[in-house]
Amino acid sequence: MTIAHNYLRTRVRLDNIVANYKHLCSFGGHVLAVIKADAYGHGLVETARALAGAGCDAFAIGSVAEGAALRQSGCAGAIVSLVGPVLPEDDAMVLDFDVTPFIHDFDQLARLAALAAGQGKKARVALKFDTGMARLGFCECDVPHLLETLRGMPAIEVVMASSHLATADDPNAFDFVGEQGSKFARVCQGLRDGGLTLEASLCNSAGILAHATDFGFEARRAGIALYGVNPFAGTAREPLGAGLVPAMETVTRIVSVHDLASGCSISYGRTYTAERDMRVAIVAAGYADAYSRGLSNRGYMCLAGKRVAIVGRVCMQLTAVDITGVDAAPGDVIHLLGGEGLGAITAEDLATWWETIPYEVFCLFGLNPREYC
Ligand SMILES: *Cc1c(COP(=O)(O)O)cnc(C)c1O
Repeated sequence: MTIAHNYLRTRVRLDNIVANYKHLCSFGGHVLAVIKADAYGHGLVETARALAGAGCDAFAIGSVAEGAALRQSGCAGAIVSLVGPVLPEDDAMVLDFDVTPFIHDFDQLARLAALAAGQGKKARVALKFDTGMARLGFCECDVPHLLETLRGMPAIEVVMASSHLATADDPNAFDFVGEQGSKFARVCQGLRDGGLTLEASLCNSAGILAHATDFGFEARRAGIALYGVNPFAGTAREPLGAGLVPAMETVTRIVSVHDLASGCSISYGRTYTAERDMRVAIVAAGYADAYSRGLSNRGYMCLAGKRVAIVGRVCMQLTAVDITGVDAAPGDVIHLLGGEGLGAITAEDLATWWETIPYEVFCLFGLNPREYC
């Protein structure tokens, strides 16, 4: 889905995503590219093609339908769905489009096994275990019953076991990562002792950067770091994420430039009053363009390499910035994300200003018309 009829353009550097992928591969193991949610806003098909060209053979997506769309685009690699089938039509798509779903409960497993057996097909699945997220997954105590159940399901082929870390990017919570890792190691051992041959997958981006060597599980799921975000930015472990390069920038256009005299207020609610004579630019971006209203009076844009502050409330399709001292005219390009020099705005900056995480910034900015280079 793309927001139609606006001036925003989200530019994606696929070569930088590829460079990040290669960097993450250098930590070893089998790296699955997590391209769920339209590749975190960078474009599902474009991102998958670029990565496949660089040798990536396995992709993780967010739903079975997204996996089917990826398969239909011509993707030949393994497609793993991080959320498995929810509705009966999802079960059918698993088989029709050769998607390997995460399976998190017995009913889901039974439904898929019955459908696959009925069609004379084999369904490859990845078993999902909860080791501490308390979101989705079998628990450690389910392993014996799971093995027994699978023995009666010849149409199911288990190829992977996985679990997800809750605190991999928090250097103060590495103990919990260790607990999850130990629990998952016991689960995998139990499955293998029960005769299954599978890849084990625990680490996400932060796990790869900080913990992969502690565990040695063979498959790793790289998401946010593929898109150039250092999960440890601003923490004592920041150097762990060195070498990642951003791949997204978002620009828009200036609509109008005018003076704002000292004492005058600007925008809805009069939340900002000029304390000196200033010059403002009215920019074509607002919350309808996924430019959060939470940036009102807090965020910055980058104009000609300089940071310019948002003044007053972000409106539906317009936002005012203080450009005093910077030359600008209607039609000029202004960066919402990225930009030149010291004024460049990172996804981490935006996330801090609007009190979220870079993941959300990417997903939302990616809703705007995209360009690739
Ligand atoms: C999104 C997701 C990932 C990727 O996480 P990042 O922090 O972006 O690397 C890995 N595993 C699962 C289950 C996910 O949902």
